[in-house]
Formats: sequence, C-alpha cells, structure tokens
Amino acid sequence: MPFDFARRDFSLAPATLYRVGGPARLALFPRTRQEVQAAYEWMLEQPLPRLVLGGGSNVLISDEGFPGIVLFTVELRELTALGDDRYYIGAGVVLDDVVRGPMLERNYEGVGGLTGIPGTVGGAIFMNAGTVNGSTCQWMTSVDVLKADGLHEIPMTPDLYNYRGQRFCAPGEVILGGHFQFHPAATPQRPIYDHYKQRRLEKQPQGYCCGSVFKNPEGDHAGRLIEACGLKGTRHGGAVISPLHANFIMNEHNASFKDILFLIQHTKEAVRNEFGINLEEEVRIIAPAGILSLDAAGK
Ligand SMILES: Cc1cc2nc3c(=O)[nH]c(=O)nc-3n(C[C@H](O)[C@H](O)[C@H](O)COP(=O)(O)OP(=O)(O)OC[C@H]3O[C@@H](n4cnc5c(N)ncnc54)[C@H](O)[C@@H]3O)c2cc1C
Repeated sequence: MPFDFARRDFSLAPATLYRVGGPARLALFPRTRQEVQAAYEWMLEQPLPRLVLGGGSNVLISDEGFPGIVLFTVELRELTALGDDRYYIGAGVVLDDVVRGPMLERNYEGVGGLTGIPGTVGGAIFMNAGTVNGSTCQWMTSVDVLKADGLHEIPMTPDLYNYRGQRFCAPGEVILGGHFQFHPAATPQRPIYDHYKQRRLEKQPQGYCCGSVFKNPEGDHAGRLIEACGLKGTRHGGAVISPLHANFIMNEHNASFKDILFLIQHTKEAVRNEFGINLEEEVRIIAPAGILSLDAAGK
C-alpha cells in the first residue's frame, strides 16, 4: 500500500447514494491537505485512470467498477470561523452541516438555496449545487484547487460558475475547500429551512437515487418534459422513473448500472423525439474509462 489511508478493491456502491457501482482498484482517504497533495502527486505518476469523489450523491458508477484510483475528499473536515461572517470550509464538510451550523445559527441568508442537498462541500462547489434560490459558489470568495502544476487559490468571480457548473476545476483536479462570505439575513431563516425540508419530503421520492438526473433546459423543467412524454413510472430491471417526480430515476430494487443507464438514454431519446430538446445529464456517469458523456458517445 502506498499510504496508510489507501484501500485496495474498495467497493464503491456503498459510497454512493445510488448504491450502484463495482470496486475501485484503489481508494485513497487522505485526512489533511498535505496528505491530499502527496496522494495527488503520486496519482499523477501512476498509469491509471483517476477519479475524485465526495459524498457520492451525484454519481452513477459502472457495475464493473473503476479500474484506477479514486481519491475521496470526505476527510477534509476543517470548518473555521474567521470573523466578519467569513469561514474556511474544507471539501469534506457535509453541506447540510454548513446549513444547520453557521448559516442557521447566525441566521445567514442563502439557506433557501442549499437546504436538503446531500453530499459534501467539495462536491457542491464542483457542481455549483443549489436551487432556484441560489447556488454554492455565489457565497464563496476563493476556492483552493489542486492541479497538475500545484495548488491554486482562485478568487471566486461570477464568470467562473453558472447553473450546475463551473470553470475553475476540471474533472480529476481536486477541490480542497474554500473561503465563504456569508451575510446576515433580514428575515428569520429557520422557517425557510423547515419549509424546504418539508417540501422535499412531499415532492421528491425517498430512496436510492442521485436527485435530478437531468439539468433543466433554459426556460423549462426537465421533469415537466419527461412527464409530458408519459414516462413517469417506466421501469427497466430494478430501476424506475419515479411516479412522484419524473426527473428522478430510482434504484428501487437492486438496479444495475445498465438498468439506470437504459432509462437515462430512453428518456433522452423520448424528449428529443417529442420536443426536439437534448436533455443534458446532471448526474456524473462513471464508466471504467472515466466520465461518460452520452452525447459525446454519439447519441
Ligand atoms: C435526494 C437528492 C437530492 C438532491 N438535490 C439537489 C439539489 O437540490 N440541487 C443540486 O444542485 N443537487 C442536488 N443533488 C445532487 C447532489 O447532492 C449534489 O450535486 C452534491 O453537491 C454532490 O456532492 P457530493 O459530495 O455528493 O459529490 P459527488 O457525488 O461525490 O461528486 C459529484 C461530482 O463532483 C466531483 N467532486 C466531488 N468532490 C470533489 C472535490 N473535492 N474536488 C473535485 N471534484 C469533486 C466528482 O468528481 C463528481 O464529478 C441531490 C441529490 C440527491 C441524492
């Protein structure tokens, strides 16, 4: 073993909220920024595919697993108050702990944007996770990203992120954490938190999934388009397009990677045929060769 935080043949399914995925050849769980740097430098020297993961709430991983190295940032749990409503938050801090911690305790605005999103701060920064009420990167002043040429502290500016995406961290690079600047809200945030928690319980299916499978196309909702194609409740193997929310594909009963992938492709085709709209995946599909883009695959 190259590091005492390395684990061979690590089963990935339990590390994802889909509960799907074969083993990684090697999984690394560095506990400090120094360990991440050492692990990353070592990874770059290995002739193997590389993947970075946080809480696994937005990934669908092949049943064949990942024949390379997966670096998990879940152990980077530093959360430091710096004064004047500024915080340094490590990539491994659970996003909901930020909401229920500083944001609710100090009544900071933005609770409506981040309530109920599973996963870690690193994944939330990479995805610019959020809702119509706001998204992660807008509360940041800088982000620390490990790239092949070293560690970069990148000042956060609005041109660097957009709806469920960003331009400062390429796949395979590592977000270590970042500085957040919050602002005291004029109205109590606790009722907002309770409202959105309750709303998710009512409007979103509970179970193994990745949340929304597709991004919303400009000016429309992926769920509305999928529902209009009559796809709610469509099953394939152990997977089903949720009868409650059409943009959720659930692993209902031991679904395989292929069961879920089939429904993703089927949905894309149906929406394209019916509306001429190409739905873009929000979920990251991880095949043995790396991140799979269904559009790039010639669909
Ligand atoms: C029930 C449910 C509801 C959801 N609701 C929402 C919602 O309302 N809004 C929303 O935006 N999302 C939502 N999601 C999706 C998901 O929770 C978010 O995308 C989340 O921010 C992903 O964080 P994670 O730590 O789980 O990332 P992972 O799933 O581990 O990774 C996601 C992507 O980020 C990359 N990544 C992760 N950590 C790092 C890092 N430290 N450095 C570099 N790259 C990294 C991975 O390579 C991968 O490409 C939902 C998911 C579920 C299951």
